[in-house]
Amino acid sequence: MAGKLFIISGSSGVGKGTVIKEFLNNAKSIYLSISSTTRMPREGEINGKNYFFITKEEFQRDIENNNFLEWAEFSGNMYGTNKNRVLEMLSQGKNVLLEIEVQGAKQIKQKIPEAVSIFILPPSKEELEKRLRNRGTETEEAIQRRLQAIEFEAKESDNYDYKVVNDIIANAVNEILKIYEENKE
Ligand code: 5GP
Repeated sequence: MAGKLFIISGSSGVGKGTVIKEFLNNAKSIYLSISSTTRMPREGEINGKNYFFITKEEFQRDIENNNFLEWAEFSGNMYGTNKNRVLEMLSQGKNVLLEIEVQGAKQIKQKIPEAVSIFILPPSKEELEKRLRNRGTETEEAIQRRLQAIEFEAKESDNYDYKVVNDIIANAVNEILKIYEENKE
């Protein structure tokens, strides 16, 4: 039996990474797809674990060879889902999670309408603003940019099957686990 594809997207700075990690620790039989990217590894990131870090030329070749299920440019870097790996896991009956941004999610939904999409939202614009200010690491300009991005992403989230508000991490994780249990193969 074929597995099911799940997509999680979310604004940066809403604790998406933590929620996904906790979800994967608690959910059974779901595998995270490892994307390819042209961005430089951050400290502590491992090639083949967090991403496959490849050059722009390699990425371009992968596009030409139709190796991606979807790909998109985000913040000046390219990101793509490796098609064969995902299709192979699905054909083995494994459920697969894609942690991708909105343009990629759109492409997946067009190709695989039965994919289940989840968008993680910050509690509210006000709460996010408070968190960003309390963190004290961002300039005023950066804070305003983040807040604008949130408004844009809130609109995009209307195209998703589910929206999960990340107010309390444990609650958000439980909500996603419930969605997974209801939809998985
Ligand atoms: P980061 O550079 O912070 O790891 O990721 C930046 C954004 O790219 C995040 O929103 C992440 O979800 C998204 N992303 C990661 N991998 C892929 C991918 O394969 N395809 C698409 N479309 N987006 C991705």
